[in-house]
Amino acid sequence: MSVKSSLTCLANTPFSYQVVVKSSALEQCAIDLSPTGSLKKSASSKLVIITDANVWKWHGHRLLSALEKAGAATPTPLVYILEPGEGSKSRATKEKVEDFMLSNRCLRDCFVLAFGGGVVGDLAGFVAATYMRGVPVIQLPTTLLAMVDSSVGGKTGLDTPAGKNLIGAFHQPRAVYADPTLLTTLPAREIANGMAEVVKCGLIADASLFELCELRADDILGKEIDSNILCDSATGRVLAFLDNSNKSDNGDKMLNSIVKTVKTRSLDLALVESLVHLACAVKVRVVSLDEREGGIRSTLNFGHTVGHGIEALMQPTLLHGECVAIGMVIEVEVSRALGHCETLLVARLKRVLSALKLPFRVPVDVSHGTGLQRCIDKMAIDKKNIASDSARVTRCVLLKSIGKVLEPPYTHAVQISLVMRLMSAAVSVRPSKTLALSSDIKTSSIVRAVTLHVPGSKSLSNRVLLLAALAKGTTVVRGLLHSDDTDVMLRCLSDIGAKAKYMEVDGKTLVEVTGTGGAFCLPPRNPAASGGLRHLYVQNAGTASRFLTAVLCLLPIPETNTSESEKTSLL
Ligand code: NAD
Repeated sequence: MSVKSSLTCLANTPFSYQVVVKSSALEQCAIDLSPTGSLKKSASSKLVIITDANVWKWHGHRLLSALEKAGAATPTPLVYILEPGEGSKSRATKEKVEDFMLSNRCLRDCFVLAFGGGVVGDLAGFVAATYMRGVPVIQLPTTLLAMVDSSVGGKTGLDTPAGKNLIGAFHQPRAVYADPTLLTTLPAREIANGMAEVVKCGLIADASLFELCELRADDILGKEIDSNILCDSATGRVLAFLDNSNKSDNGDKMLNSIVKTVKTRSLDLALVESLVHLACAVKVRVVSLDEREGGIRSTLNFGHTVGHGIEALMQPTLLHGECVAIGMVIEVEVSRALGHCETLLVARLKRVLSALKLPFRVPVDVSHGTGLQRCIDKMAIDKKNIASDSARVTRCVLLKSIGKVLEPPYTHAVQISLVMRLMSAAVSVRPSKTLALSSDIKTSSIVRAVTLHVPGSKSLSNRVLLLAALAKGTTVVRGLLHSDDTDVMLRCLSDIGAKAKYMEVDGKTLVEVTGTGGAFCLPPRNPAASGGLRHLYVQNAGTASRFLTAVLCLLPIPETNTSESEKTSLL
């Protein structure tokens, strides 16, 4: 899984910059900030580090040591430490940071270093965008979400009571340094939070990234471990990670320090580095094609139309990535309901989100009562909506298959009523208008009048397979939910005489079932069973076994002139 450590965003433009993804990216950042480094910061210009209290406690010492070692600590860096959390992305905090910089005589040649998660990155980036009409910002992200999303692409901003990110500016960073070793101090929930954006990148543009998430989901979050740290007895700041000597230098020689055992994470750093690299590659590619979000860049908002609506109601209970995870499921459901993608995609997405410990169901506070309407109202002020849109539609990115979105214009008007139906806990089903108004309902007119895209369901899929197996001739089934349970059903039906095979038509997987007309045969004998028993092996497929139990009554009665007392059972 070796990947190139650096990507170029906005190549061949005046704003071109490197996105460095590697385990020593923090040290690389310090070297590049030295007077001889690639960022061309002069020896006299000031460096303003904007960070938050958590990040500074864990990694501040490592950053200062690296700057010192690289010769980038003169003049002494200025450090502004924010309160951790979304609350710091405010107009009030921006003012305070600006006043801090003004009082420290930072001039137009100063450099801002955003050292933290998305909150720090967005705020520091916006400060840099407007301070003295713009100074350079370097992004050194410390959360997975910031590494794969917020640090790349130049979107900066802050929140207001009316909504998130409503005030801001495009201000591309001078460089981005994503160092996965910084993630070992991040709680599992925050790693999962960032993984929602990684999964999104796979869904919209890189099927192999999505497959990597599916394949390695169990390894990605790592394990909590005890680590010994040397920390400053007065401030609690970490001076060295004693278990992992490459994380810091000579910390153990420092005075006023104590050794403590703390919880950190053991991560598969090579895997995390690959995920960050592949997700950043998607973002870099898209941003480079469309810096100001006039077209393809809006695909990065997949899952965010609904996600932002949920976030407005559920913050701080749910994190940004968690809301996007639920939003992606609803927006894939929308794509499926409109006939753009297969049911299987919904199932795969839910499965990978669940493995990554991300939520995928609309929270009760949103799906019930007035919550849903309030969520829809919040979606109405989404930046993707356009003034000419009717109040009955919202704009979503729609998916065709894993790695492919629906063609330009990339965001598509979708009926609010459809989104509400998919998000709602209670749905009432009514006959379609065509049917209700028809005074002369004939079977043929019913078939022509209505096309139903039924929800992906194991139960429905198994019923359909069984009906096809009972029928005479060949039935082609599209939109089948693919699951272990439906696999069991297919195999058992084959064991009793129906024939089933998968087919690819126009990139879609269909199932062709040749039915028996009800004339099922006995399943093969189970050589391992005593007494010549015939078994349909249903593993632990609950739904399939429910239907197959009734099917046993349809099997032919075995010959009685055999010494074996033949029976067929589900095993
Ligand atoms: P965050 O910045 O609040 O960080 C999450 C928590 O992790 C905080 O408590 C922080 O102190 C802590 N933390 C950060 N790094 C740590 C580390 N290495 N070890 C231990 N703790 C650490 O949240 P986030 O999820 O990184 O970012 C969310 C923000 O990003 C939101 O405001 C969102 O709007 C914004 N965002 C912006 C863009 C963009 O394009 N600009 C894209 C996506 C999200």
